Amino acid sequence: MRIDVVTIFPQMFATVREYGMTRIAVEQGALAMHLWDPRSYSEDSYKRVDDRPYGGGPGMVMQAPQMVKAIRAAREASRGKVICLSPQGPVLNYSRLRELSEEPALVLVAGRYEGIDQRVLDNEVDDELSIGDYVVAGGELPAMVLIEALVRQLPGVLGNENSADADSFSNGLLDWPHFTRPEVFEGERVPEVLLGGNHEEIRRWRLKEALGQTWLKRPDLLECRNMSDEEQMLLAEFKAEHP
Ligand code: SAM
Repeated sequence: MRIDVVTIFPQMFATVREYGMTRIAVEQGALAMHLWDPRSYSEDSYKRVDDRPYGGGPGMVMQAPQMVKAIRAAREASRGKVICLSPQGPVLNYSRLRELSEEPALVLVAGRYEGIDQRVLDNEVDDELSIGDYVVAGGELPAMVLIEALVRQLPGVLGNENSADADSFSNGLLDWPHFTRPEVFEGERVPEVLLGGNHEEIRRWRLKEALGQTWLKRPDLLECRNMSDEEQMLLAEFKAEHP
């Protein structure tokens, strides 16, 4: 997947290139990231990209000419859909993530200050996307959240091809609890069923726990779920064990 990012802080994206799963994706060629700095399109000798808002008030606004040149250059090179990270967009969720992971290329636009001149958003951006109902100082961290989440969906990037399928939300449920060595830690034992090697019992236990954790922490996810007979039985068992 090709991802182009329009940002005045391209250095921040060293994190994507140098750490963890995104670094592996870059090394494997599954992710190609390109960065476009609107400052390089500024004709001002100070390389300014912001100015005071018309109408007055606090803060600065990112200027249209530099942003538009950077976005058009990125779009021309990538041919991808242009997405602006913005607290005003629909909040990113699993189904939107899946849709975006099918795109061969995306251009992500990161704002700063009070935001970007509205004419840029109206004419150059296909969609807005938020990471949650709160405001951070810039679009770079939201863009990196999206990139890391997308990389988890790319085939072959995760060591075990199936592990993204078991993640919370992938099948409408939260993930089941995980345990590793030591078998006993501060007097607490790993659930016996996980030590026995009976695959069917382990599958049932994991499904029951996934249903139970979802019921405890995110009951809203169960409201629209069409539960199978087995799921209804396992959830009833879980509820009986957690009165
Ligand atoms: N004045 C804007 C508002 O209230 O809608 C907020 C501007 S914010 C300080 C600067 C930039 O950070 C935004 O242009 C956007 O790119 C990014 N940003 C802030 N919060 C975000 C969120 N929840 N999701 C995605 N991007 C966000």
